Amino acid sequence: MKKLLLSFSLLFASFCFSQANATYQTRANLVTETNITQHVTDLVAIGIRHGDATNLTRNRAARDLIIQKYKDFGYIDNDAQPAIDEISTQTFTANSQSLQNIIVTKKGTTYPNEYVIVCGHFDSVAAGVGANDNGSGVATILELARILKNVPTEYSIKFINFNAEEDGLLGSKAYVTNVVNSTTPKMKIRLVLNIDMIGGIASQNNNTVFCEADNYNGTTTGTKTTNDAASLTFTNQLKTYIDNYSGGLTGMMSNAYSSDYMPFENNSEIITGLYERPTNKTSGAVVDPNPYYHKSTDIITNMSLPYVTKIAKGVVGAVQHFAVASTSTTLAVSDIDKTKDFEFFPNPAKETLNISLDPSITDFSFEISDLNGRKILTTKNQKQINTSQLKPGIYIGTLETEKATVNKKFIIQ
Ligand SMILES: [Zn+2]
Repeated sequence: MKKLLLSFSLLFASFCFSQANATYQTRANLVTETNITQHVTDLVAIGIRHGDATNLTRNRAARDLIIQKYKDFGYIDNDAQPAIDEISTQTFTANSQSLQNIIVTKKGTTYPNEYVIVCGHFDSVAAGVGANDNGSGVATILELARILKNVPTEYSIKFINFNAEEDGLLGSKAYVTNVVNSTTPKMKIRLVLNIDMIGGIASQNNNTVFCEADNYNGTTTGTKTTNDAASLTFTNQLKTYIDNYSGGLTGMMSNAYSSDYMPFENNSEIITGLYERPTNKTSGAVVDPNPYYHKSTDIITNMSLPYVTKIAKGVVGAVQHFAVASTSTTLAVSDIDKTKDFEFFPNPAKETLNISLDPSITDFSFEISDLNGRKILTTKNQKQINTSQLKPGIYIGTLETEKATVNKKFIIQ
């Protein structure tokens, strides 16, 4: 939800930042336009996902789709393994409907109780499918969650997909009230990075992105000023990371308003955000509002997928800094990719399921569970699994090595 572009004047303090970290850059480069495209396409295919009675079925289908994607990346559903509790939902009421926020928690190594929250709403307005608003943000957060899955970070990270943002930030308000402030002690938040509408405009130039700081010293409708300076510091850093990791975009400082970071801002948390900055091909002027904003024309062909891909790379770079990700190359991305690339054959299988994986992976465990998360069997270092006891159906195979945990589905005929 973005209504207007506010004029702004920020003093640009000069900060000293280190150069892009090579390991962070390698991970940022794991963002692919194919994945971004797939995520937006899958979400849009569901249709209008507004959180009201008319669209409730699709709102819930979107919720389920996003949760399944997190599971596919290896995050554990709390229904399946409550002790691990990586994927959870928060239910609240909006438009007389029971709606859910999706929250995925990645535990930090040094500060497990202090969180970097990366959020972006997944609901759409009732008028359209919201490819840009906010399929673009959802796709970015999914890529981030996939790439960081097995990367240790000092701070914990919460990837949050809020619901009912389009009805007045209702999902994020419910989260701040009923989770952040209701936890004892109160949840400690290092930073909230909100990502809402970063798709740009296909027919225009998309070379810059707004990095949004909390700047409410009497200039706008925001309420808290105690958190402004810290927000400005983080947002300046965000701009630097966009410049360093996105592969060609320039971050531009702007002000935060009208999206899911605002309930956090009003709660004195430190916030920052990303918002598109398409410019007219001829005049160079910023195009705002986006002509497709909140319309039935907010579809994939009207936005720029390469632009979202670049912003997502910047986000992967930035969040590694904010959460202090390991710079060790021991957990090389190539190893994670090797694990990720394992295959089943035949699939569908009958009596025997074979696992093909990179020959360098010799120490691994394999687990089969059903779609309800019920564990059926576990094996160690076996590439040929006896599946004669399994009933026909769809199952989830989880391959776990020292470096990665990957889930893939297979079918028993
Ligand atoms: Zn939005």
